[in-house]
Amino acid sequence: MTDNAYALPDLDYDYGALEPHISGTIMQLHHGTHHKAYVNGANTAIDQLADSRDKAIFTTLRMLEKDLAFHLGGHVNHTVFWKNLSPDGGDRPEGDLAAHIDEQFGSFDAFQAQFEAASIQVQGSGWGVLGYHPFGKRLLIIQFYDHQVNLPPGVVPLLLCDVWEHAYYLDYRAARPDYVKAFWNIVNWGDVARRYESALKGLILP
Ligand code: FE
Repeated sequence: MTDNAYALPDLDYDYGALEPHISGTIMQLHHGTHHKAYVNGANTAIDQLADSRDKAIFTTLRMLEKDLAFHLGGHVNHTVFWKNLSPDGGDRPEGDLAAHIDEQFGSFDAFQAQFEAASIQVQGSGWGVLGYHPFGKRLLIIQFYDHQVNLPPGVVPLLLCDVWEHAYYLDYRAARPDYVKAFWNIVNWGDVARRYESALKGLILP
């Protein structure tokens, strides 16, 4: 494995810190097992691609490329998602981000309604996403299927809502809408604003 291998980031808060909105049990499994598996999967795909290249044998290339996109997508999305959340979250965005949301979506309430619907209506496993797209300098609400399908190239994720069943089922069972509504109580808008400022310069923050 190369020394720039992907690594599981620490959380900025304890596993139980987001209760009652997300339980410590979910957080522990989600970060320590699921996210870790994506980190390992991305590193494995990178290593196996290097091995294929060394041997000039590319019979598994298509599978490895799919594995890389899926696992690296999972690693990036969860890394952003943990930072998007905080026990001190909630309320509303401020400053330039708030102004852009108002301009782009009409109002914060209209944005929130669309983001909620996008998250709730993901068929199967995926994410609700607020992203910034440098083409047109536009904020977009999109849906990821799995971790990376349905992603217009170049979109920088600012706010992610994980709607895979592993993200909420232990706490909310089949009530995904209740989970998505509770999500707003722990959104760290300071982090979203920080990502927005960087996205304007074309950067995606870890
Ligand atoms: Fe997840």
